[in-house]
Amino acid sequence: SPIELESFVSKTFALLEPEANRKQITLHHKVESGLYVEADEDRLRQILMNLLANGINYTPEGGRVTLSVHTADHDHIRFQVSDTGIGIPKKDLSRIFERFYRVDKARSRSSGGTGLGLSIVKHLVELHKGTLSVTSTVGVGTTFTIDMPVIQ
Ligand code: ATP
Ligand code: MG
Repeated sequence: SPIELESFVSKTFALLEPEANRKQITLHHKVESGLYVEADEDRLRQILMNLLANGINYTPEGGRVTLSVHTADHDHIRFQVSDTGIGIPKKDLSRIFERFYRVDKARSRSSGGTGLGLSIVKHLVELHKGTLSVTSTVGVGTTFTIDMPVIQ
């Protein structure tokens, strides 16, 4: 059934605010009004939660994590999750969507992840016939972009 994205994103953010507050990270969202997507609610929540959790995990205190949701073209919606975090080296960028791949075991050990999050995100985006891409600069930040058909 259609999901109204403005309220959906607000509800999803409420789940992440405690963790962001603990880490002194500012969470922002900018959602175009009146947007709907025909998607599975639990799966869409899992996609956004994984990307936002990564943003919070891999951004130092005082940083910011932003989700924006806008019309990409007449039948696609664009979700972008950006952070001001540690970034991902170029040589690792093509591998982060593989199961169990983590950039640097030493630096990411403290976050205690398994390296599955992004492989799940990729799978779920593909189930919705969407596309997923990433750009990143070490020491500056990372942006994940999902283009999702309004109706699959
Ligand atoms: P899990 O999500 O399973 O708890 P994880 O976060 O380590 O563990 P992924 O979400 O699949 O696994 O991410 C894979 C790796 O990509 C991470 O270990 C991290 O090295 C890198 N990464 C992911 N998102 C970011 C980000 N926003 N900034 C910097 N590095 C990131
Ligand atoms: Mg993760």
